[in-house]
Amino acid sequence: MRRTDGTTTPALTLIADRDAITALRALLPRRPMSWAEAHSVAERQAIALLRLLHIAEPPVPQFVISSLPGIVVDWRQGWPVSGMAVRARSHWRIVLRADEPRQRQRFSLAHEFKHILDDPQIERLYTHLAPKGQAERTERVCNYFAACLLMPRAWIKRDWCAGRQTIHDLARRYYVSHEAMSTRLSELGLTLPTEHATRGLSGCRRGVAA
Ligand SMILES: [Zn+2]
Repeated sequence: MRRTDGTTTPALTLIADRDAITALRALLPRRPMSWAEAHSVAERQAIALLRLLHIAEPPVPQFVISSLPGIVVDWRQGWPVSGMAVRARSHWRIVLRADEPRQRQRFSLAHEFKHILDDPQIERLYTHLAPKGQAERTERVCNYFAACLLMPRAWIKRDWCAGRQTIHDLARRYYVSHEAMSTRLSELGLTLPTEHATRGLSGCRRGVAA
């Protein structure tokens, strides 16, 4: 596994921070969050997790979640939903539907992990919304966290500005579904080459990987 300093280290030794979940939860405010703030916190949590585990390039390995103390991941054939986080006495169990594409499983794992991060505060984070709105906001923020974790903004923009501008190539590089990559590009304001072929590299500052 390549570290940020360019050296390689066995994966097991990367898992050094036993308080990763506590550190990520500390980024959550103890009060209701606006849509913008929820997005900002989710992205900061995703970036912090990657930094804690020294992950600096795609594809993000699933052990950034599955190796954390207190997290157990199960894959089950025929599971009725893509993913589910279940709290046990001493740990959280994330159950994933094994017969879905691996790319989708990775996204579901990250989505469910965000549910776990938010769980202690979830009753107060979106109290300004109606119950249905709270549930919808929770799911969308979990999706956003998953996108930020698997497709970090800085990495995508760097690749985009380096000329990687097809969903197929980017999805393969980040090991995510085409749908997830398409959504992420839209979130980041990056348009597909066919939409800006006459205007150069959309979304890039010259000479700078934003
Ligand atoms: Zn969910």
